[in-house]
Amino acid sequence: MINDNKKLKSLTTDELLSHRQILIASAPPLDLLRGSLITRNVKCGKPNCRCASGQGHPSLYFSSFHKSKNSIDYVPAKWEPWVKERLENYHRLQELIINLSEINLELLRRRIKD
Ligand SMILES: [Zn+2]
Repeated sequence: MINDNKKLKSLTTDELLSHRQILIASAPPLDLLRGSLITRNVKCGKPNCRCASGQGHPSLYFSSFHKSKNSIDYVPAKWEPWVKERLENYHRLQELIINLSEINLELLRRRIKD
């Protein structure tokens, strides 16, 4: 992956344009989730459960931040792959935006519109 500015400068304009096309073609699906998965140890409350004297049962939660508000949502185990896939799409898209922007900045500096 060509993503630092020094490397971009050393590319020909044709290489930059073709790299931009490859990046655009590699875009993840716009099926996203922004936030993070966290594990919390939760005591179930049953007095005879082994967790009563220990750490609790590990449970999965989704933590997100939107409009200055933090949310924590329980994630059932079978939903973990669904959440992880969308988190990965989000991170891949974020990286793509940064890389495409760097290429377009270099094109702007060269005054290349297409
Ligand atoms: Zn328990």
